Amino acid sequence: MNKNDFNEGLLGFLDASPTPFHATQNMSMMFENAGFIKLHEESKWELEEGGKYYVTRNDSSVIAFTYPKSAKNYTMIGSHTDSPNLKLKPNPVIKEHGIVKLGVETYGSPLLNPWFDRDLSLAGRVSYLNSNSEIKEVLIDAKKALAIIPSLAIHLDDKANKERTVNMQTDISPVLSTSGDFEFDEFLKWQLARHDVLDVKEVYASELSFYDVQKASYLGLNDDFIASARLDNLLSCYVGMLSICSVDASRPMLFIASDHEEVGSESTSGASGSFLENTLRRMFVDYDEYMQMIRTSLMISADNAHAIHPNFPAKHDSNHAPHINKGSVVKVNANQRYASNSKTISRFMNVASELDEPIQQFVTRSDMGCGSTIGPLTATRLGIDTLDVGLPTFAMHSVRELAGRDDAHSLYKIILGFK
Ligand code: ZN
Repeated sequence: MNKNDFNEGLLGFLDASPTPFHATQNMSMMFENAGFIKLHEESKWELEEGGKYYVTRNDSSVIAFTYPKSAKNYTMIGSHTDSPNLKLKPNPVIKEHGIVKLGVETYGSPLLNPWFDRDLSLAGRVSYLNSNSEIKEVLIDAKKALAIIPSLAIHLDDKANKERTVNMQTDISPVLSTSGDFEFDEFLKWQLARHDVLDVKEVYASELSFYDVQKASYLGLNDDFIASARLDNLLSCYVGMLSICSVDASRPMLFIASDHEEVGSESTSGASGSFLENTLRRMFVDYDEYMQMIRTSLMISADNAHAIHPNFPAKHDSNHAPHINKGSVVKVNANQRYASNSKTISRFMNVASELDEPIQQFVTRSDMGCGSTIGPLTATRLGIDTLDVGLPTFAMHSVRELAGRDDAHSLYKIILGFK
């Protein structure tokens, strides 16, 4: 797939995936279109050699894999579906001072200042009881600017540009209405009706998040950049998804996108949970074959990397400072916050250099803390040789992040170059 088509599809995927649930649903649709067969964890699996399959957990994590005859050496790509955001509390309605606003928790570690004065909508999963006394789930996306977190005017806060802090309980409740008769249950039923769900006896629970309605777009003099919410890590989800959709079933490849990376990965659908291991054990029932597959496979853990910021260059180690549009970034950390080692790096470098695709190196400054990824978790839990790579990004965890036009497509080509 050429770069323009690749990036056009990326913009559409970003806009259609305001939550991990929507990202998982959209990836599932892509897998269906590419001939993957859906598996259900609660049913018996009868895998056929030469088949392509996918399976989801909690509607928010997905694994897709090819299943060639007596395959070992899988190329695996790992990523995460979740991004930092503002998540609605179960009883969110606050009515005070002539305004209806909604109480939120922060999910993960969002940069909070950029969330002010943005046009916000709501999306996520709702569970309800229908007239047959069945509990059902549906994904909703209001797709409309419903709320906003207005800044406090500088006249009322003359230190705003010097020492502004954000209190997560009191300062960031999005403002919804001036109409005092707002009822949250009625609002949810209205949203369900908009999604053609009319048989609703009672709404039980919901997991809804705010998102910025501004669409993903090209930006810059020569469209150098791609600006969007959730580039961390939907960018890597998109690369992994298209990679596995581009190979035929004779090529051993697996793609996983897990939820809950931004909050530590410890959940049924997170990378510290059992989803990948459970799936691999069902693919390789014989333990000896399973271990041969594990020890001949490579996990490419793909998550965004901090590009050197031209206004804050001192935040990087100058010998390990990636640039936007200069290629995929290999991430190294002596303390195993990243899982790359010289063997896995060499395998990646070898493919990239054969294809003439550029790569860069990232190491955090030694006097600063280092983030982590699902890479070390997967390496630890399963014993798969792992490499941490990422695409250079500015403003990670902002409501609008910035990446390059060239880098994601380059990583896609390198992944396809693995034999
Ligand atoms: Zn990430």
